[in-house]
Formats: sequence, C-alpha cells, structure tokens
Amino acid sequence: MDIKKTQPAVQPESIAAQALGWVDEKTKGVVEPIYTSTTFIRDPDNQYRSGRVYARDQNPTFDQAEAVLTALEGGHASLLFASGMAAATAVFQALSPGDHVLAPKVMYWSLRNWLKNFATHWGLQIDFIDMDAPDAVRAAIKPGQTKLVWIETPANPLWTITDIALTCEIAHAHGAMVAVDSTVATPVLSQPLKLGADIVMHAATKYLNGHSDVIAGTLTTREDNPVWQRIRTIRAQLGGVLGPFEAFLLTRGMRTLYPRVRTACVSAQKIAEHFEKHPLVAKVMYPGLPSFAGHAVAKKQMTGGFGGMMSIRVKAGEAAAIATAANVQLWKRATSLGGVESLIEHRASVEGAGTPAPIDLLRLSVGIEATNDLIDDLEQALKIAAG
Ligand SMILES: *Cc1c(COP(=O)(O)O)cnc(C)c1O
Repeated sequence: MDIKKTQPAVQPESIAAQALGWVDEKTKGVVEPIYTSTTFIRDPDNQYRSGRVYARDQNPTFDQAEAVLTALEGGHASLLFASGMAAATAVFQALSPGDHVLAPKVMYWSLRNWLKNFATHWGLQIDFIDMDAPDAVRAAIKPGQTKLVWIETPANPLWTITDIALTCEIAHAHGAMVAVDSTVATPVLSQPLKLGADIVMHAATKYLNGHSDVIAGTLTTREDNPVWQRIRTIRAQLGGVLGPFEAFLLTRGMRTLYPRVRTACVSAQKIAEHFEKHPLVAKVMYPGLPSFAGHAVAKKQMTGGFGGMMSIRVKAGEAAAIATAANVQLWKRATSLGGVESLIEHRASVEGAGTPAPIDLLRLSVGIEATNDLIDDLEQALKIAAG
C-alpha cells in the first residue's frame, strides 16, 4: 500500500508522483477519497478502536499529505495547519513566557510583525539578528535561555542564505532547538532535518500546493519529543486546521512538486543570468548567481537548483520599479509565490515600515511558463518604465 514500505530504495520524486502509492481500499481507486465526517463511531464497549474520535485534528484526509511530506523531508511526523502563519506561530506558542528566541532580520514580513507585536507581549524575548552571520548567532545566543533559533533560507525578500548545519551546531551546543522556514527551498532543493534542524516549516500555500488555490501550512519534526507533543496539542485545541478539501488539493499539488520546482529553477537561473548585466537593472539577487553573497552556502546545502525566487533592483529607482510591475503583460502583478504562474511585486509597498527591501526592488516568483516569454515581457516592461 505504501510504496516507501515495499520499495525502500525509491526516489523522492517517485514518492511524490504517487503520493506514497496509497490506494483507496474500498474502491481500489488510485486517489484517496475526501473524508468529510466530523465525528467517528465509538465501539459498543466504549473504546475508539478506529483511532479517531473527532475530526478537528483527526481528519483522515490529512494523513496522506502529512505522510508524503514526512517522507520527502526525512522526518518523524508532520502536521497540516490552516496556513503557513498558523504553522509557524504554533512553534513559538509551544515555548514558555520568558524564553529567548533568535529570529532573522530578513524573514517573511508577516511572521516578523507577529513576533514583534504579539509574541513579545506574550512574554517571549526575541532578538532579530543577521542569521547568515555565524558570529552574530554565537554572540546573540544566551546559554540556557535561548530555546529556539528560527531560520528562513532563502529568506524573503533578499534571498539571504543561512548555513543550516552550522547554525544548528551553534544552537544545539547551547541547548536551543532550530526551526527552519523552508518554504522557498522546498524538500526538492534542501532537507533541513537532515542538516540537523529539529523542525521544518512550510507555507504549503506556495510550492507544496503550487497552484495558488489553497492556503495551508505544515510542520515536520525530526523526532518525537515534548515540544512536538505541545505543538500537536496546540493544533488540536486552537483548531487552526485545514479543511478536508484543501488537504486533498494539497496532496494533489505535491504529486507534481518535483517537475514544477525543477522547471522553475532552470527558468529562474536563466532569467537571473539574463538580467544580471542588463543596463536597466542595478542588481539581480538570486542564490544561483556566483556574484550573490550566499551562493557558496546555497551551493552546499541546496541540491538540484537554487529555487524559483529572485529579486531585481531597477536602476532608475522606485517609480521605475513600480512602473515596470505596472507594464508587464504575462507576469501577474500579485503577492505570494510558488505557483505555476509567474508573479511580480514591488515588495516595499507590501511590507511597509521596517522592511529590509530597498524601494527599487521587485520580487519575482518564477513559474513554469516558457522562459523566453518571461524574459521578453520583463524586457518590454523595463523599457517602458525607463521612458
Ligand atoms: C507565505 C509565507 C508564509 C506564510 O504562509 P501563509 O500560508 O500565507 O500563512 C511564511 N513564510 C514564507 C517564507 C512565506 O512565503
């Protein structure tokens, strides 16, 4: 039933394509049904031998998506959440008031805002540091007090690369656990748990689902431990869960994860190289360019490509950047990332005060359209914006 159990040598792309090969036992369908029941029958002798009581956190439709992701990340177990934010905040909520946390200066802006405005009120002590500088991590860690180091790599919206293995070494030596927001890398390009991380988080809204039609989040743990049990309880009690239809769509989306991500990587690399020396572009920020600060570390911990995300800085400044986004025809002018359609966004407009994004920066999420179409469209928009 589970191809991983019967064929241990199978490659991750095979696991994803067949979603572990699960077959619906009742109909022999190659696609599992969507389970909508909210509640489950109790045995006459008062037991629950089915193992399920109530669907808030026990919906059977979650199982396949969680099992596939656990296999792809090489973890012990996964949990689906109602959004990436619900998944990420569950990790911080599993800590205790007074605990110290290290978070990156460059990170997903909405989580940074929550950490600054809410998590601190709740009693967490948070230092935002240059997570890509190991010395900064060493200097900021408070032995015995620092309980969590949060990494995002590559990190929004500058694609800053953090050395996962090295950061884990530092954190673990001082008794802190490490969680990695691996949304942009996906399990196709890096597996943080294998590099020593304790928890990996995904905004499954992005590449895992891949079709811009589901909001979802995930956590995967390397091992069962009290923190993971607290996270389970938080999900069960707060109820930030996915609906069964969304869980089904997520499983469906993950079946094509490998070809989607690989296509986006190849295209992004070509687009980055094309615009790197372009007269209207001041800078291309992409981990796949040897000129990029984090390239060497990215090369070490990402396999098979550098992702579909990049940013470009428009030479003529903020107005020209906004005008470029206004004049694209094929790229879609929208926030978010990781879908099959390419998106373009003036990032500082979205993030507002406190953003690390320069005002001339456009964030690009490269989809799976023809690379030349994407290059041509961006070319013509840059030209119109330059006047
Ligand atoms: C989108 C995103 C999130 C938040 O996910 P939601 O599903 O929108 O809540 C977190 N981290 C990264 C890197 C993201 O891109």
